[in-house]
Amino acid sequence: MSIVDGASQEALNRGGAQVHAVHLKLGALSGVMKDALLFSYGLACEGTLLEGSELVIEDVPVVVYCNTCEAEKTLDSIQRFCCPTCGTLTADLVSGKQLELVAIEIGDGPDDIETRMETSQLEGVSL
Ligand SMILES: [Zn+2]
Repeated sequence: MSIVDGASQEALNRGGAQVHAVHLKLGALSGVMKDALLFSYGLACEGTLLEGSELVIEDVPVVVYCNTCEAEKTLDSIQRFCCPTCGTLTADLVSGKQLELVAIEIGDGPDDIETRMETSQLEGVSL
């Protein structure tokens, strides 16, 4: 399912209202370029309920589990999979690969409804 399809479907489920904004979570390891996503979003939305809507992207850092610290740690850099506290190499990824549709904002005027979607993990990387 693509981002646009998923959000359109959700808007249809809510009565086919025009969508104002789409909120995404984008992991640092998702393999998706944020700029590219933003760049092609407008075009992908043409002719759908999402036309003219804003794409709001929340960056998700890479979090690993360190066996030495016995804790989840946020990586400073995705170049090295080392615990930032003790330096232990770890490949135990907790989060950072996701591309998730989080919410859409629909309605018109001040009564905008923000609808939290059940988090849907998007497969593949398409708008
Ligand atoms: Zn550690």
